[in-house]
Amino acid sequence: MSWFSHLNRLEHDGIPIYVDPERPDWFVPSSRTDVLLQTLLHCGSPAEAVAKICLGGVEVPQKVTFDYSVLEDVLGRKPVDNYLGRHQHLELNVLKEIWFHLTDKCNLSCRHCLFGSSPAKSNSIGEKTLKSAIQQATELGCRLFYFTGGEPFLYPNFPEVIKFVQEIHPDSHGVELTNGLLLQENLESLLGLDLHRFHLQVSLDGLQEEHDFLRGKGSFSRLGANLQEARNRDLAITISVAVLPSTIAKSPCKTIVIILLPPGVPMMANLSHALLSW
Ligand code: SF4
Repeated sequence: MSWFSHLNRLEHDGIPIYVDPERPDWFVPSSRTDVLLQTLLHCGSPAEAVAKICLGGVEVPQKVTFDYSVLEDVLGRKPVDNYLGRHQHLELNVLKEIWFHLTDKCNLSCRHCLFGSSPAKSNSIGEKTLKSAIQQATELGCRLFYFTGGEPFLYPNFPEVIKFVQEIHPDSHGVELTNGLLLQENLESLLGLDLHRFHLQVSLDGLQEEHDFLRGKGSFSRLGANLQEARNRDLAITISVAVLPSTIAKSPCKTIVIILLPPGVPMMANLSHALLSW
């Protein structure tokens, strides 16, 4: 059996989802990865898929072959022998953290967005459902609450959500995963929160050229100004970097740390979906 033949492609609301029943595992591909995989599943072999994709002369065989080798490396790894499921490896006596995708609406339409978020989207969790889930998670012992999207600042009264988290238990901590571009408008509301129990995780995907390529022209400089303002107001920040094969050579994480980040700002690298980007 080839490394791709067992992949099942499903679609939900126009968003492709690949399910690997052997592991079990699933992922949402970028649009380019979706084209690569659909062509491969249709053709049945990488060589034929490369030839088909390169027919029009827009794509270069070496690049497409390389992309397939990256996909094979990621998706073709053998499942662990006798895998009995995650529950065999976890102690389920407490819920340590919970993540909420508040909305798929976003002020950006990044090329590498894992969820295909954009200004045109409009699905959000209802306030009642959200608060009930936060309450239930708290009762299960959860004290760490992540909020992502889309862009959480586009969720109605987002600072109120963090306030709810902080009021429900004295040890509860909220984290907002954000592109940082709507920070100025929300700054005053955020400053009313307990800032020891809230921090922002801001996406910064390289220096100007790489960041703007992925996230849109001008987003790098706007983010820079907002980050500076947030630091001036003592908001805690971590930085998340999507490390892509095409950008790592231009602005490695070390460069971002040295040039952009004030001392003491932690950074994490998102390697996982980077390999499957456009
Ligand atoms: S900012 Fe984040 S959620 Fe919005 S489009 Fe970009 S990657 Fe997706």
